[in-house]
Amino acid sequence: MFIIRSGMLVLNPTPCVEDTGFFYSGGEERAEEISAGLLRGREKRGEDMAYHMTSSKAEEFISDEEIKDCLKYAEEHKHDAALIDSILKKAREMKGVSHREALVLLDCDIPEKNEEIFKLAREIKQEFYGNRIVMFAPLYLSNYCINGCEYCPYHAKNKHIRRKKLTQEEIRAEVIALQDMGHKRLAIEAGEDPKNNPIEYILESIETIYGIHHKNGDIRRVNVNIAATTVEEYGMLKDAGIGTYILFQETYNKESYEALHPSGPKSNYAYHTEAMDRAMDGGIDDVGLGVLFGLNNYRYDFTGIIMHAEHLEATKGVGPHTISVPRVRPADDIDPDVFHNGLSDETFAKIVACIRIAVPYTGMIVSTRESVASRKRVLELGISQISGGSRTSVGGYVEEEVPEENSAQFDVIDGRTLDEVVHWLMDLGYVPSFCTACYRAGRTGDRFMSLLKSKQIVNCCHPNALMTLEEYLMDYAKPDTKAVGEALIERELSVITNPTVQKNCREYLERIRNGERDFRF
Ligand code: SF4
Repeated sequence: MFIIRSGMLVLNPTPCVEDTGFFYSGGEERAEEISAGLLRGREKRGEDMAYHMTSSKAEEFISDEEIKDCLKYAEEHKHDAALIDSILKKAREMKGVSHREALVLLDCDIPEKNEEIFKLAREIKQEFYGNRIVMFAPLYLSNYCINGCEYCPYHAKNKHIRRKKLTQEEIRAEVIALQDMGHKRLAIEAGEDPKNNPIEYILESIETIYGIHHKNGDIRRVNVNIAATTVEEYGMLKDAGIGTYILFQETYNKESYEALHPSGPKSNYAYHTEAMDRAMDGGIDDVGLGVLFGLNNYRYDFTGIIMHAEHLEATKGVGPHTISVPRVRPADDIDPDVFHNGLSDETFAKIVACIRIAVPYTGMIVSTRESVASRKRVLELGISQISGGSRTSVGGYVEEEVPEENSAQFDVIDGRTLDEVVHWLMDLGYVPSFCTACYRAGRTGDRFMSLLKSKQIVNCCHPNALMTLEEYLMDYAKPDTKAVGEALIERELSVITNPTVQKNCREYLERIRNGERDFRF
């Protein structure tokens, strides 16, 4: 049933899914399944581990002992074709596999089985996300920071970097520059500094961003990447209307974590690792996990991030909205060669594929830290959201910095404009999407699952992607991008299976071409 409300076509009552990520739901049932599987495994091994998936303590739901046991188990079974076949059989049901099983797939060194793993990742990506890729851009508000993170140029002891904090007027200018590129979704970033970047500054900045409507532009979803904080402050972010709260764990290995974070509030491993629990307790439905691959042994962190997802699903009924997979990059005062855990592009692709298999309903993000070739490879294996035209310096969208004034958090490898990225995606057969519909309609958390099960994605996310792409083409695209995009939209309309939705989508596309904006299913 469809309801038209003030220019918006609302699919009702079926809940809808946005392209960035589907959610685990039926949390209790799935949590029981996970728990039962894990307990059976433990009983079988006759062990009594300090691993408690539903514990509120970081060191119990990310148990070092359990991870080390998994590392040993996967090492011993990486040539075990029968076990790998049984895990793949389970994975083909597209309901995910446990962290232990996922690690066996990651470690698998049988070439034919690896081909099957990559093939399955592509199939899951297609099943849940189709060919839509959601676009976003980071917006750096301030690089003041009191932490001592060894891998980040914003660390407090870095005296070379130029410190900057945007005023509300400067934020306005940055957002207008981003709107003029065509962006509708931002991820705001700031260092941890209670004096320079208090929660009031973040809240005021969010209000400023949502309040800017320049020409046909507006930012419809603000995701937030700020330091771990209290339940009360997470509640304030929720009330400010944020989309996803993103916080990278950097590494799940407590010993490495403490060595990499020698000073500042972030040095508290437990407080940082338990942040997503507090965020969800504060009312935020959508949280985004990530590790910085290259800091620590990738097998350890891969296992840790899947365990974190399992913990959130088991305790909150909803897993993470997204998982990000950044790798360490050079920056002012940072030489990635001092970190000895770098990984090859092939290993990186395998990590993406195995995360896709382990948590099929979680969106995956890759940033401009990756090369064009690497981004292309991982897009088909599971990535559902990418940044484009990014500037990683404070104020960088209005004014590109000269090297000696560098305030960037990392050097961008993929330096193409948003239009070039959009064009490239379409040439590869993807539909770049600027959709923010679900979040704005309040369809967050476990309400996504029923759409997933009812197979209505092609009748909801797909038309939303096409309509927001049409807005981009009309308002911001270069002529050749527009030509490619219009042909793509015409072809992709046939993917919509519901004749009424297809008809309505055609009508709304025409109205967008005639100047109206912001339709959504
Ligand atoms: S990673 Fe975050 S907390 Fe650490 S120094 Fe950089 S901005 Fe500060």
